[in-house]
Amino acid sequence: GDPLFLEPFWKQHAASSAVVVAGWHRMSYCFVGKSTIAAELEKCIRELHAVVGNAKTDGRYLIFGVGSTQLLNGAIYALSPEDSSSPASVVAAFPFYPVYKSATEFFDSVEFKWLGDASLLKNRSDSSGTSIEFVTSPNNPDGKFRKPVLTGPSAKTIYDHAYYWPHFSAITSAADEDLMIFTLSKLTGHAGSRFGWAFIKDEKVYTRMQRYMSLSTMDRSHDTQLRTLKLLKVVLKERGRKLFEFGYKTMRERWERLSKSFSSSKRFSLQKLEPQYCTYFKNVTGPSPAYAWIKCEREEDQDCTAVFRTANIIGRPGIVFFGGSRYVRLSLIKSQDDFELLLQRIHALISKESAAASSIYST
Ligand code: PMP
Repeated sequence: GDPLFLEPFWKQHAASSAVVVAGWHRMSYCFVGKSTIAAELEKCIRELHAVVGNAKTDGRYLIFGVGSTQLLNGAIYALSPEDSSSPASVVAAFPFYPVYKSATEFFDSVEFKWLGDASLLKNRSDSSGTSIEFVTSPNNPDGKFRKPVLTGPSAKTIYDHAYYWPHFSAITSAADEDLMIFTLSKLTGHAGSRFGWAFIKDEKVYTRMQRYMSLSTMDRSHDTQLRTLKLLKVVLKERGRKLFEFGYKTMRERWERLSKSFSSSKRFSLQKLEPQYCTYFKNVTGPSPAYAWIKCEREEDQDCTAVFRTANIIGRPGIVFFGGSRYVRLSLIKSQDDFELLLQRIHALISKESAAASSIYST
């Protein structure tokens, strides 16, 4: 999921996005004097959401994190009951981004436990305790919009909106949830800068999450905050038009070419995504997801990842996402060279299929 598809955009904006910091600058734990970087950055992030229309931010607290990964972990802690004898059950609906499970299990706590599939809890009669559900919308791996499976007073939800940007999805309405997480990684492509942010409605949840952040990394890197600010100022020029038009065009073109390749295949199927009205582009936009979620349809192709591996295509196995071994996820957000190579190898794999079919008919 390395978002290098945006590298050409930043090459076009190399000078305006550059940051130079002298060695003696900003060495302190604190922003020295009345530095306004964090406040400016907060203003920029709120403005960006208002311009894109993907989230309501009024009346919500904002927290920065070391990538959204740190915030996802902090959110579980913050939503868990403070002094309950029964830990919160952490769940997600299949297929889901695997880090939710691995991180929850790794940071094992008396306050929360990984339970698994969200629908397991829905169908259980003894599910009276707190539940924390990860809802990724649009979803990784399949790009679909998601809603929580669990509802009610003890059902808490962490909305991961990593992909809710016009490159990957139509903006259908402004998200208005209690806890929403976003990341720079999938917005500008700067995954290595490790910057994410969360909007939180409830003050108590916010305070607990701040506590988690300050105990795990004390503060968030000032260098990263400065770089993020510089990048977002470039993004905000012309109300984001340049970045989002570039991002959408690139991803849309990739999806159209990929869909065309798979349209002649009976062996493989791609996830189905519908065009939707995008309030940002003020137009109906076709699908442009970050990943292809492919199913192997033939009875004998039980291990879909292995089938692609024989064609020299490395995908992430469906079982990693708890989606089953008949599925494989291919990343569409890498560099153009990587994408071209991927497409060439897919063509070769699919043309073998039609060659095999025509040899059956000719015998
Ligand atoms: N959430 C989802 C759904 C993701 O796909 C990813 C990255 N692949 C992340 C979170 C982590 O992003 P970050 O780089 O902000 O830690």
